[in-house]
Amino acid sequence: MQLPERPLLLTINKFDNVFVMKVGINTKLPIWYHPIYTDGIHPEARFPRERYVSLINRLINSSVSGKFVFNEPAKATRDQLIIGHDQRYVDDFLAGKLTEKETKRIGLTPWTEDIIPRTLHLMGGAIAALDHVIEYSGIAGNMAGGTHHAHYDFGSGYCIFNDLAVCALMALEQYNLQRVVILDFDVHQGDGTATILQNVERALTISLHCQTNFPFRKAVSDHDIVLPAGADDRDYLEKVAHCINIAKQFNPDLILYQAGVDGLSTDSLGKLDVSRGGMDKRNKMVFDMIVDHTIPTVVFMGGGYSKPISHTIDAFCDLFTAAADANIRFTSVLDE
Ligand SMILES: [Zn+2]
Repeated sequence: MQLPERPLLLTINKFDNVFVMKVGINTKLPIWYHPIYTDGIHPEARFPRERYVSLINRLINSSVSGKFVFNEPAKATRDQLIIGHDQRYVDDFLAGKLTEKETKRIGLTPWTEDIIPRTLHLMGGAIAALDHVIEYSGIAGNMAGGTHHAHYDFGSGYCIFNDLAVCALMALEQYNLQRVVILDFDVHQGDGTATILQNVERALTISLHCQTNFPFRKAVSDHDIVLPAGADDRDYLEKVAHCINIAKQFNPDLILYQAGVDGLSTDSLGKLDVSRGGMDKRNKMVFDMIVDHTIPTVVFMGGGYSKPISHTIDAFCDLFTAAADANIRFTSVLDE
């Protein structure tokens, strides 16, 4: 692991509470990762925990490794968690006192002691990536998370606390940003994000998902764009373009991108028929919009359950590589 690098040239001007930033020489994509992202999940859990360590090893040992700066996140604090969550739920989780019913609804079982520090580091990685783009603009990523099924006072579907909702609320309430878009392209609906942010007008939730998939009782996002089971690249990318248009029109000063790759045809949970190339195209369409409009963006990994898991790793490799390439273009625009 390397220590975080800092941009060498930096000026920050403040206009109407919106920070306008200029980033200098460092154009590498900052990514947050901690070994506990993998090790904090029990080896016998159904969740494919090895995807995290496999992905980081692939990126570190590949020809694109020079495009990234890997950082280790600190733990999020209780005060940060309660920005988006019920205090009772947070305290019960931290004390290891969730009921069996609550734990079962989350999954990731059997739990180990490390599930608590894992959850805190996971949220810490999201917050660190958020802090980075607030301070320096550009793109940053957390190599996990996108925990969109976590609701205000309960977790579900492998999600304990909602990093997207917490980051959106932090950005609006603590960093005084004006408008945040949560662009959720995971194949499952971002139901927890939609419910936590349902009365927050300055946070726009956009969820592109497969209709006949978990969660079976859908929440109401600001925009739910629905795909039928079996949708292919063409159907998918048409809807992606539509979502990007909606995001753009909101004129956000931050995008939180949930970039789940469980829409791949090889995914065991996804039900869609999207190719690796289609998924890569999707990400490039998102990043083109982000660069064209210089919108600071945090990338969250989201779901991916291909069998074999190597297809998921391939697609996430493509994701972070595309983010790194976009970040170079982004920072060069800021330098002009
Ligand atoms: Zn998913």
